[in-house]
Amino acid sequence: MSERLRGGCQCGAIRYCVERLGRPSICHCRMCQRAFGNAFAPLVTAHGLTWLTHEPKRFRSSNKVQRGFCPDCGTPLTYEPDGYKPEIAIATLDDPRGVAPVIQVGTESRLPWCDGLNGLPTRSSEEEAMVDEFLQGIESFQSPTGC
Ligand SMILES: [Zn+2]
Repeated sequence: MSERLRGGCQCGAIRYCVERLGRPSICHCRMCQRAFGNAFAPLVTAHGLTWLTHEPKRFRSSNKVQRGFCPDCGTPLTYEPDGYKPEIAIATLDDPRGVAPVIQVGTESRLPWCDGLNGLPTRSSEEEAMVDEFLQGIESFQSPTGC
């Protein structure tokens, strides 16, 4: 099975596979911002989602939506609207590089600084370790699957 169709959380306690991916999107709404602890939520519709380990823990964030996450490491995993296909967090795929969002939604809450991100100075992790002593010799405890 393609790496494009498998994924999981940071600690590896929860793994999944999907038969087919649907529409990739970015949601800027306040609920997705809070659920992801981030500026926005990149999500893709998951057709034929199967949990290979165990199901995520879920939080019902509204009367129509549950959100799945790993109770061990806290990784946000799903957006699950009642009666519709679930969506999975794009970056939890083992290889998310080819799953580019095609639409932005929830734009009423889009953080105003999102537009300036491409203009910020950039450094790779290696370059950052050269200027930040703390990062030198850092050892990842992330599940090695799909790093
Ligand atoms: Zn985990």
